[in-house]
Amino acid sequence: VSEKHRGGKDTTNVARAPRVRVLLPLPLAGAYDYRAPPDADARPGAFVVAPLNQREIIGVVWDREANSSEPPVSDARLKPFAAVLPVPSMTASLRRFIDWVASYTLSPPGAVLRMAMSAPAALEPPPVQAGWTLAPPGGNSQPRITPERRRVLDAMKPGEVYAGPRLAEAAGVSPGVLRGMADNGLLRPAALPRAARFARPDPGHPGPALSGVQAEAAAALRGKVAAKAFGVTLLAGVTGSGKTEVYLDAVAECLRQGRQALVMLPEIALSAQWLDRFRARFGVEPALWHSEVGSRTRRDTWRAVAEGEAPVVVGARSALFLPFPDLGLVVVDEEHETAFKQEDGVVYHARDMAVVRARLAGAACVLVSATPSLETLNNVESGRYDAVRLPQRHGGAGLPTVETIDLRAKPPERGRFLSPVLIEAVGQTLARGEQAMLFLNRRGYAPLTLCRHCGHRMRCPNCTAWLVEHRAQRRLQCHHCGHAEAPPAECPECGTPNCLTPVGPGVERIQEEAALLWPEARRLVMASDTMPGPAAAAEAARAIQEREVDLIVGTQIVAKGWHFPHLTLVGVVDADLGLAGGDLRAAERTVQLLHQVAGRAGRAEAPGRVLLQSFSPEHPVMQALVSGDLDAFMAEEAATRRPGGWPPFGRLAALIVSAEEEREADRTARDLGQAAPQFDGVEVLGPAPAPLALLRGRFRRRLLLKARRDVAVQPVLREWLSRVAVPAHVRVQVDVDPVGF
Ligand code: ADP
Ligand code: ZN
Repeated sequence: VSEKHRGGKDTTNVARAPRVRVLLPLPLAGAYDYRAPPDADARPGAFVVAPLNQREIIGVVWDREANSSEPPVSDARLKPFAAVLPVPSMTASLRRFIDWVASYTLSPPGAVLRMAMSAPAALEPPPVQAGWTLAPPGGNSQPRITPERRRVLDAMKPGEVYAGPRLAEAAGVSPGVLRGMADNGLLRPAALPRAARFARPDPGHPGPALSGVQAEAAAALRGKVAAKAFGVTLLAGVTGSGKTEVYLDAVAECLRQGRQALVMLPEIALSAQWLDRFRARFGVEPALWHSEVGSRTRRDTWRAVAEGEAPVVVGARSALFLPFPDLGLVVVDEEHETAFKQEDGVVYHARDMAVVRARLAGAACVLVSATPSLETLNNVESGRYDAVRLPQRHGGAGLPTVETIDLRAKPPERGRFLSPVLIEAVGQTLARGEQAMLFLNRRGYAPLTLCRHCGHRMRCPNCTAWLVEHRAQRRLQCHHCGHAEAPPAECPECGTPNCLTPVGPGVERIQEEAALLWPEARRLVMASDTMPGPAAAAEAARAIQEREVDLIVGTQIVAKGWHFPHLTLVGVVDADLGLAGGDLRAAERTVQLLHQVAGRAGRAEAPGRVLLQSFSPEHPVMQALVSGDLDAFMAEEAATRRPGGWPPFGRLAALIVSAEEEREADRTARDLGQAAPQFDGVEVLGPAPAPLALLRGRFRRRLLLKARRDVAVQPVLREWLSRVAVPAHVRVQVDVDPVGF
C-alpha cells in the first residue's frame, strides 16, 4: 500500500466521521469538537467520555453553539471520544436550562454544566446493579445440570433477583458457574431492585382534611398542575395558615399525573419537621438533594431522578440541575429567602431560575411565602403571576400581637441587653409553663472586641470585618473567611494586659444573661455553629416540641418555618440590627425576617406575643410589624423604589473587581469605569469600594449597572467586558440581580 493511498483513505474516513460538539463540565469557554467512534450513538444529551489534555472527562453531547471562542479544529486533528455511557441522556429541557443560566449569568456553559454533574459517580455504571434471576422454563436445549448448578438452582426462588456475588457464595460456587448457566439459558441477567428510598409516594394516602379556604387554594393549585403547562402562582398566606398542606396537595396532583415534582427549601438541613409532614401526607420519604447528602446516596438519587423513579425531590438550589425527565411541578417554599441566592461560582438566584426551569419543562411553578418578595408581588400585580391567598391561621389560632419596647425609654441595665419589660414578659411566660424565645441574628458572644485602654479594635487580617468572639471555643473568629485566633492576653496595639473587652451581644452572651435571670429554665441555643448539621437541628426541634426546653435563644435559623405549638413569647433583642447600612432591600428583609420570627409564636391555642427591642420604634419597619399590615408596607416600599427605577422596577448588575494588590483592583475598576457603555436606559455607578472592601485577602471594588426594565443587560455587559483587558490576577465577577448591596 503506497503512502499516498493510505493517506487518501484516512482522509476520507475522517471526513465521513461525524463531528460532535461536547460540552465538558469545566469552566472553559464552550463546547469542544470530537469525532464520534464508529457505532457510537452520540445524540444530543448523551454522556460521553472525552479526552482532554491527557485526561478523560465525562461530558455531554451538545446541540447548541455554546459560545465557543476556540478556532474550529480541522477534521484531521479531531480526536475521537472514547465511549457513550449507558445512562439516560440529558433531556433537551435541562440542556436548554443550562444554556439559559449560562447566558443570563454570563457564566461559561461548562461551569453551569458542572452543577448538573455534581454526582459524577452516578455516570459510571453502578457496580452491583446487575443480578441474576431464573430463566423461564422451556426452550429446546437441555443444559446439563451439574451438582454445582443444582446448588445454584436450589438457592433461588422464581421471580426473585439475586446479586451475583451473594448467590455464588450461598451456593458455594464460583461466579464463572453463574455465567456459564446464563450462557446455557438457565439464568437471566436482571436489574436488582433499588432501595425503598425511592418508594412511590401515594397521592391517595389520607392527608389532613383541609379547611374551606385551604381546599379552595388547593383546588386552584391542582388546576395549575392538571393544565400541564407552564405558569407561576404565588401561594401567600400568613404563618401557620397551612401553606405546606396546600402545596402538598398540588404535589399529590402531580403524582396522579405521573409527573415528577421538585420542592425547593432554602435550608434543607433544617427541615426535619418538613420531612415529618411529608411522611405523614404520603406515607414515604421523598428523595433528598443537598450538599450534605453522601456520595453514594447522591449517585443513587441522580439515577433514580433520571430514570423517573424518584417522583418527588426535596432539595436546595442545586436540585434545579437534576435530570428530571418529566417535571410537572416546581415549588419554591419561603421564596423570599436570600439563601436561594448562590454567591460563589455561578452567581444565580435559585427562585428566579426555578421559574425558568419550570418554563422550559412545561411545568407549573408555585412560589410560597408569608412575606413574598417585592419582585414576586410586582409580578403578581402586573399579571405575569397568579396568586392564591390564605388569610388566616389554621384552626382558629390568631396571629401574635406585636409590640415595640423603646430602648431609649426602657434601657437594659448597664452591660446587659434585655430590657426590664422583656425580662418581665419572659418571666411570666415561663411561670405559666409556656415556652419563650429570644432572637438575635448574631452568632458568638460579642461582635466586637476592643481595648479599653487605647481603643484598638480586633480586626480580621484578611477582611474588612471585626473578629467575633466565640467564648465557648475561646476564639476570635472572622465570619467571612474563617480566620480564627486565640484572644490575646494583652492588647496587640498598646500592650496593656487584660484590657480587651467584649462590645455588644451575640446569642452566646444573651444565653449567659438568660442563665443569670432564669437559672431554673432549661435553655437551648440554636445557631448554625452550635447546631451543625441536620441531625442536631432535628433533635433541637424534637426537644422543643416535647417541652424539654423552656427558653430558646437563637439566630436566624429559628425563623425557618418551625412549628413550635408551646411557644407563646418571642423577644427580638435587636430589631434594628438589619436596618444599618445602605442595602436597597434592608427594610424589606428586616420585615420578612422579623415577621417570620414572630410567626413562631402562638401557633396553637394559647395566643402569641412578640416584643421588639428597638431604638427607633417609629421606623416604618417596626410600625408594619406592629400593625401586621405588610401589604401596606410593601406598597410603600414599591412607591419608594419605583421613581428611581430600582429593582424590581429596573434592572441591576454588579461587577466586582478583586485583586490581592489594592492598586491593581483600583486600576481595573477605573478602566471598567472609563469603558462604561453608553446605551439608552443604562447608567453605570461607581467604581466604589465593594461592601466588603477586603475579603479573604482580596481588595474589592464595585461597579453597578442600572438599567430600565425593558433593557436586556446581558448584551450590554458582554460589550462592556469585551472593551477592557483584565490582567491575569485580577478577577471580575458578574452578579446579575445582586441581592446584598
Ligand atoms: P404555614 O406553612 O402556612 O406556616 P403550615 O402548613 O406549617 O403553615 O401549618 C401550620 C400547622 O397547622 C401545621 O402543624 C399543620 O400540620 C397544621 N395544619 C394546617 N392545616 C391543617 C389542616 N387542614 N388540618 C390539620 N392540621 C393542619
Ligand atoms: Zn476574614
